[in-house]
Amino acid sequence: MKYTVSKNEVKNFLDKLSASGNLIAPVRENSLVKFKKIANPDEIEFDYINSKYSIKKYFLLDKEVLFEYDKDSIKENIEEKQRIFFGIRPCDVHSLLVMDKLLLEEGMEDIYYKNKRKNSLIFALKCSKSGENCFCRSLGTDDLKEGYDLLFYDEGNYYIVKTGSEKGDNFISKLEEKQETEDEPSDPLENQKKLSQDQIEKLRESFNSDIWKKESAICFSCAGCTTTCPTCGCFDVKDDPDLDFESGKRIRLDASCQLKNYTGVAGGHVFRDERSKRFKHRIYHKFKYFVDQYGSEMCIGCGRCITNCPANIDMVKILNKL
Ligand code: SF4
Ligand code: SF4
Repeated sequence: MKYTVSKNEVKNFLDKLSASGNLIAPVRENSLVKFKKIANPDEIEFDYINSKYSIKKYFLLDKEVLFEYDKDSIKENIEEKQRIFFGIRPCDVHSLLVMDKLLLEEGMEDIYYKNKRKNSLIFALKCSKSGENCFCRSLGTDDLKEGYDLLFYDEGNYYIVKTGSEKGDNFISKLEEKQETEDEPSDPLENQKKLSQDQIEKLRESFNSDIWKKESAICFSCAGCTTTCPTCGCFDVKDDPDLDFESGKRIRLDASCQLKNYTGVAGGHVFRDERSKRFKHRIYHKFKYFVDQYGSEMCIGCGRCITNCPANIDMVKILNKL
């Protein structure tokens, strides 16, 4: 269903949500926009391109105690509290759909991620303009057909709001000033970087190209790209036993395929010992291996890996060179 809702009514709606103590929304701090729990809707930043870090950090934490144990029992750390995310951009909602493929595969579900997903409501907000590194249009992630409870389109004096789930319908039913509409929302995104399907296809023949060595020569292997990428899900798991060896905990830690030791195995062998191999792997995983496995790209075109690269490495430019 689609409704027009006045801006005033949306403000009242956010007032009530923030009073619940569960609302997480974009906030500007200095020059950075990040998602934070908010107590007052006046804190919300509506006019932003995208957040420095995506909301991945709320679903796959940098550091997470998975469970604690002692001689007699194991206590799993399962998140049960409901959270409401407002203002997530459509590309980042797509990133959750990518993470779902990785972490909710039948028979291999990650229960820690699953619970966080189950207890989260997604109220997305369509962008009003593109950033200089956005290329979501090329990947079809600039809008949403699924993955949201509510989807807001800013139409100037009012919003068009689409409902995408029963929970979304329930929230909308409580709004007083709304009207059903058949109008299509406007589509303000233009002048984006372009990445054609042809370029993605060309990857298949470019595995042995010398482009990877050439383009990775200025890469620092710093992992800035993977850390800020909303679909990179590499992690490490470590046990932290207490000295009595009768209790302890298991911890999951953020990791990156761009770091040399990530493919290190017992005996000291490192499978991707060269920087160019790690560099190539990131791009092949996004645009070939994941497509072969799941039928869609592992990139949502948010451009964070380009914006946050200290060496100004631009994956789209590299792919367009193939
Ligand atoms: S952020 Fe840039 S320099 Fe750092 S690992 Fe990624 S591509 Fe290399
Ligand atoms: S690879 Fe780059 S553009 Fe693609 S989702 Fe990750 S950060 Fe965004």
